[in-house]
Amino acid sequence: MNTAYVYLQLYRLFDDITPVAADCGMLCKKACCKGDDSGMFLFPGEREVFKLLDPDWIRIEKTDFNYTHDGKKYNVPIAFCSGHCDRYQRPLACRIFPLTPYLNADGKIEIITDPRGKSICPLAKAFLLEDFDAAFVKNIKRAFTLLAKNKQFYDFLKEYSSYLDEFRRFYD
Ligand code: SF4
Ligand code: SF4
Repeated sequence: MNTAYVYLQLYRLFDDITPVAADCGMLCKKACCKGDDSGMFLFPGEREVFKLLDPDWIRIEKTDFNYTHDGKKYNVPIAFCSGHCDRYQRPLACRIFPLTPYLNADGKIEIITDPRGKSICPLAKAFLLEDFDAAFVKNIKRAFTLLAKNKQFYDFLKEYSSYLDEFRRFYD
């Protein structure tokens, strides 16, 4: 499967749809785009997008976050920027922040506020899911429902949800 093509199509769901109708960056001086050391995970196969586009504003590194699929271990890469990017090339994690997918106890995908965002993002701190733009939430659900049809992505999502649980203990 050409994963770059899949992600580039999914990116379009978020070209014009944002967490809220207003520019939320005015609330926080774009706290999620400071170009610090926090970075954002690239989802399985998403790295192919940046091999294809090769933008000069992104740096991709390995992490110590791994997941297993079919007995094989896979690393989850992280992307760093300097606080600037081409909006139309930004990673999926940037497009869906401060929400994120989560596999619940029944193995179903939910969209939740990213617990890692609660220390920096005013929306993550104060908003309930229903306070976000409904089209934004719907498109995240659409994107991850599609991605999770791939078994490797689903296995990633299980590990990722356990990872989020560690943060939820502190922030929920
Ligand atoms: S930190 Fe939250 S409120 Fe600020 S720009 Fe990012 S998503 Fe919007
Ligand atoms: S890649 Fe763009 S959207 Fe993502 S954190 Fe950097 S400046 Fe913000």
